[in-house]
Order: sequence, then structure tokens, then C-alpha cells
Amino acid sequence: MTSVSAEIATLPALAKALRLPAIARCCESLAATAEAEAWPCSRYLQALLDEELRCRADRRVMRLIQQAQLPAGKTIAGFDFTAVPSINRRQIDARAARTDWVEVGQNLLFFGPSGTGKTHLAAGLGFALAQAGISIRYARTTDLVQHLQAAKAECKLPQALTRLDRFACLILDDIGYAQRSNAETGVLFELIAHRYEQRSLIVTSNHPFGEWNQIFGDQAMTIAAIDRLVHHSSIFELNTDSYRRKAALKAQHQATS
Ligand code: ADP
Ligand code: MG
Repeated sequence: MTSVSAEIATLPALAKALRLPAIARCCESLAATAEAEAWPCSRYLQALLDEELRCRADRRVMRLIQQAQLPAGKTIAGFDFTAVPSINRRQIDARAARTDWVEVGQNLLFFGPSGTGKTHLAAGLGFALAQAGISIRYARTTDLVQHLQAAKAECKLPQALTRLDRFACLILDDIGYAQRSNAETGVLFELIAHRYEQRSLIVTSNHPFGEWNQIFGDQAMTIAAIDRLVHHSSIFELNTDSYRRKAALKAQHQATS
């Protein structure tokens, strides 16, 4: 008859063959604990499965963070809300802590002058969402527009838009005046229309809606784009001075005092 310890020694290979790497790693040490503490076999099995599930969730979060391509080091915890009194910290915390707004395809729009923390907040929310298991992608709007234009030139825009559907939330950072040609504004509108009521967008812009005619060129398209973006959305205005400028002034002040 095979001894229990000999049977346990076969478990790592079996677990690996079944693609259960966490169980393969911990089954022997957990067996020792189980024996020492006289666990019933149901408890041992539960501990193994719990560990596999936990590691799977961790790996998924790591994958989501990697694919999100977020700017490094921008977290909600690292954001100084006292510098932006127009932003209600609780509202941002709520968007970071709960994912229901993403699941129903709502949008978040951040407006404000350059350097006020729009990218930081958007990326920080993106990081929190990825940690909560939501698939997310950060993109500078100009890069994404270029990508979509290339797809359009090959008559593959629908496929490119559908591929982006795997991201429940897409960050369009810096919607600005760079998009000037009809082809460029066209794909941006297609993207907004495609995701409307289906998938979330987080949009940042230095330009208030009043100036968006210059982004979309055409007034009817501008109105249609804004309409779709704001229909299910929360709008945050960062009405403050540039954080970069304030930090530079503070550093200069400290150096000279
Ligand atoms: P914007 O996108 O509005 O131009 P950024 O988010 O790029 O501004 O912010 C500029 C720099 O200042 C970044 O390094 C960002 O991390 C930092 N920053 C801006 N606002 C804050 C803030 N309230 N707390 C901490 N860092 C901030
Ligand atoms: Mg920015």
C-alpha cells in the first residue's frame, strides 16, 4: 500500500498537469500543516482550492495592470485633494471603490487647464479599477486616433473598435485640437458613438465643451459627440493653478529662503 506521504509527493505533478500552479506550490506544505493539526480532508481540499483561487485573482489583476498601460506611479492615494478644492474627494473615492458605473457604461469627464492633475486622476482611477478586476486601457487620444485612422485606411475600423470592447473602460487622455482632418475627427466620433451606453470612457481635456467645435471641426458632429459623452456621465472641473507650476514655485522658494 502506498503511504500518505508518497501520495502527497505525487500531487505537485498532478496539479501542474491540471494547470493549478498554486496548488502545485503549496500542496505539500499545506499537507504538513493538515497532518500536524489533524484537519479533516475537506478542510485540506478547501485550503488548496482557496489558494488557487486567490493566486488566480492576483495574476488577473497583474495582467490587467500590465495591459492598462497606465502612466507609472499615479494613484488616488498619491493625489493631493487639498490642491484642487473644486474636486469632491468622496466622489472620486466612490468611483475608485465601486465599479458599477463602469459596468453600466457611464463616463467620467475631467476638465481643467494644463498641469492641474487630470491625467493623474484618470490614471489613478484606472489603476483602482484594474485592481478591482476591471479591464481598462489608457491611451493618449492622439495615439489612439492615429491607430484607428490606420485601421480605417485598411477598411478595418469596425474590427478595431470591436477589439477595444474588451476594455470595459478606456481612458482618452487629452482630447484636444490635434485632430484636425476630417478622417481624424471621424474616427474619434465613431469611437464615442460605438461605446455609447455600452462601455465606459474616461476623458480628459484642457478645452471646455464650448471649444470642441475645433476638435471635431463640424458642429453637428461636435454636438452629437458631446451628447453621447455626457448622457450618462459625471463631470469634474479642476479649476485651479497648475500643480507643476505650484511645485516649481515652492521648490524655488525653498531654495532661496
Ligand atoms: P494635467 O493632465 O491636468 O495636465 P497632470 O495630471 O499631468 O496634469 O499633472 C501634472 C503633474 O503634477 C503630474 O506629475 C501629477 O502627478 C502632478 N499632480 C497634479 N496635481 C496633483 C495633485 N493634486 N496631487 C499630487 N500630484 C499632482
Ligand atoms: Mg494630462
